[in-house]
Amino acid sequence: MFSLTVPISSEGGHNSFQNNVPDPATSGKKLPTFKFQLEKSHGRVMGGSYGKEATVDQLPISKGIAGVSMRMEPGVMRELHWHATAAEWAFVTEGGVRTTVIDPQGCAETNDFVPGDIWYFPRGHGHVIETLGDKPCHFILVFDNGYFSEFGTFSISDWIGHAPKELLAKNFGVPASTFDSFPKREVYFAKGKIPPPVAAPPLQGWKKPPLTHKYSLLSQEPFETFSGGLEWRVDGSQFPISTTMTGVVLEMEAGALRELHWHPNAAEWQYILSGEFSVTLFGSQGRWREEKLRLGDVGYIPQGFGHSIENIGSGKARILIVFNNGHYQTIDLSQWIAGNPTDILATNFGQDASLFEKFPRKDVFLTK
Ligand code: MN
Ligand code: MN
Repeated sequence: MFSLTVPISSEGGHNSFQNNVPDPATSGKKLPTFKFQLEKSHGRVMGGSYGKEATVDQLPISKGIAGVSMRMEPGVMRELHWHATAAEWAFVTEGGVRTTVIDPQGCAETNDFVPGDIWYFPRGHGHVIETLGDKPCHFILVFDNGYFSEFGTFSISDWIGHAPKELLAKNFGVPASTFDSFPKREVYFAKGKIPPPVAAPPLQGWKKPPLTHKYSLLSQEPFETFSGGLEWRVDGSQFPISTTMTGVVLEMEAGALRELHWHPNAAEWQYILSGEFSVTLFGSQGRWREEKLRLGDVGYIPQGFGHSIENIGSGKARILIVFNNGHYQTIDLSQWIAGNPTDILATNFGQDASLFEKFPRKDVFLTK
């Protein structure tokens, strides 16, 4: 499930192999679907806790990014684990969450999260996620590799459950019988006591990493305000540990449009937080497709493909957008046109040059 069939470089989600040869998922006569109804899928369930995922298995176009919707009941934790083939970026939508993560320098950090907060764990760093308090929590996990499966993670119970007890005894300097009652296979969701309100120090004592894994996004002023809505954005420049991912929340008024644009350096993964959107995709060679996305649906835009996002519901609506690059880049169609002399535009479209005097003189980005 976690086999990796394309090489991924360590730099910001950039994938030179994918960029240089035709991708069978997107090179056909028609564009494939770029929508997956994540919340309507079944996933892995334990009582009221679940993990539902969108990988290339569920959404074949989404080679650059995978995502998971996870809900956990009080006292439940997503056990200690790491991901060999992806970094983890997360956005909390509901409830309280606590994470503890270890880095290769032996520094560990524990953070508490509320809705609107983000975490980022570099690829391979060990971590655990706990529900805080007496209410369930819900969060969206996003991984910078579409081939990554949440159900193919390296879990501590799976490892210890399959290693010989004598080996473990020698490793930890404790009797082999210590491990008699340990789980024999992966626990995945562990259920226990509700964690203490203030985290206890680790066995080694507090040893904080140089860069924090937490960023509070929605508690801050929006990155930009438009007549059609608000944009919160966080990339590696505000959140330095997040070298391979950028996150955006757009709050759009009814009828608002995130204009036609593309991202030169990243694929885009979308999750609908509220409302109803029309997303359009342009894939060259006359190929164009529209999908309607509602609460809990996922959309995916391959790197460099043209697209737009429109709120087609009756009220304000929010969309979470995550990119597999720590540097945000966009080229908007209004900006491109504004960046060209009118004689070029006149010849290109076979129109009178004066027509283009009526076009925007600067980037539109979000309009109503
Ligand atoms: Mn994880
Ligand atoms: Mn976009």
